[in-house]
Amino acid sequence: LTMDSNKLLEKLKNYFHHPTFKSDLQKNAISTILKRKYDVFVSMPTGSGKSLCYQLPAVLHKSKVTIVFSPLIALMKDQVDHLRRLHICAETINSKMTESERKRVINDLYSVKVSTSLLYVTPEQASTDFFKGLLSYLVRKNKLAYIVVDEAHCVSQWGHDFRPDYLKLGALRQLYLHIPWIALTATASADVVTDIMNVLCLKTPVSKFSTPCFRSNLFYDVIFDDTIGNSYQHLKDFIDQCFCDDANCLDSTLNINPLNQPCGIIYCRTRELTEEIATVLSRRGVSIAPYHAGLKDKERLAVQEAFMSGHIQVITATVSFGMGIDKATVRFVVHWGIPSSIPAYYQESGRAGRDGKLARCRIYHSKHSKNSLDFILKSAITQAKTQDKQKKAKGSYSMFLKMIQFCESVYCRHAFFADYFGDAKPQCIDKCDVCCNKEAVKADLDSFMFGLQN
Ligand code: ADP
Ligand code: MG
Ligand code: ZN
Repeated sequence: LTMDSNKLLEKLKNYFHHPTFKSDLQKNAISTILKRKYDVFVSMPTGSGKSLCYQLPAVLHKSKVTIVFSPLIALMKDQVDHLRRLHICAETINSKMTESERKRVINDLYSVKVSTSLLYVTPEQASTDFFKGLLSYLVRKNKLAYIVVDEAHCVSQWGHDFRPDYLKLGALRQLYLHIPWIALTATASADVVTDIMNVLCLKTPVSKFSTPCFRSNLFYDVIFDDTIGNSYQHLKDFIDQCFCDDANCLDSTLNINPLNQPCGIIYCRTRELTEEIATVLSRRGVSIAPYHAGLKDKERLAVQEAFMSGHIQVITATVSFGMGIDKATVRFVVHWGIPSSIPAYYQESGRAGRDGKLARCRIYHSKHSKNSLDFILKSAITQAKTQDKQKKAKGSYSMFLKMIQFCESVYCRHAFFADYFGDAKPQCIDKCDVCCNKEAVKADLDSFMFGLQN
């Protein structure tokens, strides 16, 4: 199908009740997908509307079925419910459904005039005879619009969500070469993208739609902890600076709404550290509380509420527990010690400045935390009992080395991300410590590495 912009917009309103596309990327992906000429790869951050990229084309190909692989029954149910509320016919086939439900769905799929528009299935279905039969039937009757792989990073052993069943999907790709495939993910690291292309055997040239990783309102720097004297005081000064950056300072006097209060996150490796930093900084007048897995549900909820409502300005969190928290006015994200990987760092620091205003992302890099992490990760490799575990441990270690490289090179921080994610070099100009003052970073790094005084 080809459709001009106005027509497409009209369909978007009719079927999904959105007045506009969320982005040009979303619109362009949809136009390309509609043509059914190329396999399409979409990588956009969580929440940017990837589902619509295949749902709208699926709906517009009337009397054809789009099959969507999705890793979790809960995710599928969420999508199916959402589509049904919009009066779009969506079904699922999974191991948890009753026999009669399953019969009803299958009857429709094999009927002369199929009404199912989107069929959600889990990846383990892909290798069943039933499913292969269905696929071959739909292809024969020219009733298959697309095959979609959502959360496509699950094919990759590099990701933490690796699902062996996703590997089976590649074999399906080979069966019917003329059916276009669509792969979607929020993970954009180059390794994972390569894995997705290879494992799913996407047909070249693949049309790619990816959000560029450069965020020009984020200022990145690395502080070499062993060279700065009292690091807690250094951190305190940094927090004051972040809350007083021009625009934000003015805003905070004008803004009576506590939801719009400037705030910040400090990520630490351990619970003990979150507690310690919170204690020390609160003695120095910072409004701060720790947030980690050791808190009782009630306490954690209370911290979360206080943070969201602006009653606490800063939280110290272990990475695994930063998840429930998303505020647009995060003015800084500090990593107290080296983050675990480049994509993890990109994601965690990316919680800063969602409102588009200046925000700062900083790593406090110390020899001590570097060495202890080095030791832990190396031990994990030697102690791994299975080959799988060893592979994983080695992966973690090499990601750590890459992260060391991020901290210990005199190279634009934004360009480092761009290289990693396969983007063009961004116009950083003065959005990182290196681009602002290369000589100073080099001097600090030298004194960190060789203990020279500057
Ligand atoms: P992703 O899969 O990229 O994380 P989703 O597809 O789940 O994102 O969409 C996130 C939210 O954005 C959903 O609530 C969806 O309804 C909404 N959304 C998608 N496209 C649009 C649009 N064009 N206009 C407004 N809201 C949209
Ligand atoms: Mg999604
Ligand atoms: Zn730079």
